[in-house]
Amino acid sequence: MPSFTNIKNQLLDLVFPKLCLNCRCLLEKPIDKENLLCGRCFGSIVVNRLIFPEPGFFLGSATLYRIDAARNLVHFLKYEDFPGVKHPIAKIIEAYLRKSAFIHLFRNVKPEIVPIPLHFMKSISRGFNQAEDIAEVLASGTGWPINTRLLLRTKNTQPQAKLEQKSERMENMAGAFRIKNGLEEYVSGKSFVVVDDVYTSGATMSEAIKILKSGGAKSVAGFVFAKG
Ligand SMILES: [Zn+2]
Repeated sequence: MPSFTNIKNQLLDLVFPKLCLNCRCLLEKPIDKENLLCGRCFGSIVVNRLIFPEPGFFLGSATLYRIDAARNLVHFLKYEDFPGVKHPIAKIIEAYLRKSAFIHLFRNVKPEIVPIPLHFMKSISRGFNQAEDIAEVLASGTGWPINTRLLLRTKNTQPQAKLEQKSERMENMAGAFRIKNGLEEYVSGKSFVVVDDVYTSGATMSEAIKILKSGGAKSVAGFVFAKG
């Protein structure tokens, strides 16, 4: 006899048929339902091996933003506040941490994970910060602590996606962050990993890393779910 839980799950599936977030096909296998993507779409998300050398810092990136299914996961994380999407994102990030040497960038120190903060006006309207979601996954994969109090976003910037030119994006982000009053000395000599959901022009990440380095941080790397 089917258990009550099974019956309940089947009923829920009738009410909310679970479709692949990317291609909208019906998800039948339990593993696909967990990933919110069908096997084909989940399998299309290439997990990187590389650590990317960017001007002035190293960037860890679990996958690539040009992959449709990866881009859709970010969309649901960022705009739909869809909590289940953290599960497939975590799987991809954990695979990256296993395959790449990112963790070994910090051999003898435990860096603090600093998610890119939202401006307080945006955090009121959105209610959550997708960079913090990615930071939590990174923290559980590495054991490194998260610090959400260090960096402030003092400029309510335009969404970077609305700006096409790299120069416009750099200008938009210039002066966007500062270290919280009273924590300037805390930064000195410490190591950090700045975390965001995606990396496209690099303007946001570069600006945040610049602020921590100019505050005397010893080493700062970047980490994102998907790189453009
Ligand atoms: Zn699919």
